Amino acid sequence: MRLRDIGEFAFIDRIARMSGEDPRVVLGIGDDAALLDLGGPELLVVTTDAMLEGRHFRLDWLEPAEVGWRAASGALSDVAAMGAAPTALFCTVGLPASWPVARADALLRGIADSAEAVGTTLAGGDVIASERALIDIMVLGQVPRGQQLTRDGAVAGQVLAVTGALGAPAGAVAALAELGTEALSEAPEVRGRFARPAPRVRAGRAIAASGLACVAIDISDGLVQDARHIAERSGVRAVIEAPRVPVAPGCVELAARIGADALVWALSGGEDFELLLALDEANVAALADLEPVAEIGLRVVGRIEDGEGAVVLDAQAREIDLPRGGWDHFA
Ligand SMILES: [Mg+2]
Repeated sequence: MRLRDIGEFAFIDRIARMSGEDPRVVLGIGDDAALLDLGGPELLVVTTDAMLEGRHFRLDWLEPAEVGWRAASGALSDVAAMGAAPTALFCTVGLPASWPVARADALLRGIADSAEAVGTTLAGGDVIASERALIDIMVLGQVPRGQQLTRDGAVAGQVLAVTGALGAPAGAVAALAELGTEALSEAPEVRGRFARPAPRVRAGRAIAASGLACVAIDISDGLVQDARHIAERSGVRAVIEAPRVPVAPGCVELAARIGADALVWALSGGEDFELLLALDEANVAALADLEPVAEIGLRVVGRIEDGEGAVVLDAQAREIDLPRGGWDHFA
């Protein structure tokens, strides 16, 4: 049996079984980040995220600074999904020795700028030589004890809500693959969300501090797949109502140009780095009014029911089969 036969998530389950018990590890493998209790009023949040050239990014599609920014944003987004504020960012980069120094500088500048943009800083890391560019980001964060947002705890009767709008990164990748780099010159909003995503750190902190929601995940694998992660950890079923899903500006027009469906990008594309929440419907209006949330918007996209898994319904409440269920590294 090979990794591709079991897939990423079954492999992670196997790793989780190797992980020992330690009372300081409040939450280990299985959420957006680990939570450690080192004493004191705050929990330490730790996450890592690796990206490989050719697999997760292409240097002919984005500027090196944008590649660095995106890579750092993925890990910062995981900290946001815990309701935490980032404390420091570390990066290990593997780069070909043949690279111009200016290109390497730009890539690292993108990483550092992404950290600065959410109030933290590049505090260390490691450098190795490699045949293809590799970026591994680690972010440490802090969240006041009891305020942490996790994937478990969603209960039947709650609604699912998402910040911002979805689909732009998947749309950008589809257009780049179909038409090349010129494809996005007429879709600057789509390109912007792809090249310089904004991890929802301020919104995540505000949501956590408000106590209006306790369940969150960041959308990295795709809305439906990430809703499934909440469902699995919470022991419930996630129902996504497709017509309610906010599609990012410019995606519908771009999809029309290449004969694609922007709603599919929004449902299963991934790397949106928005937050998906499960919360009581009565709390939605107050949550949407929190300043950092109001800035980016909050939309109810579905509900939590008894059962398991995640389903998508169309306007007639019929179940939709998606072409792709979400990101799996080994699929
Ligand atoms: Mg995540």
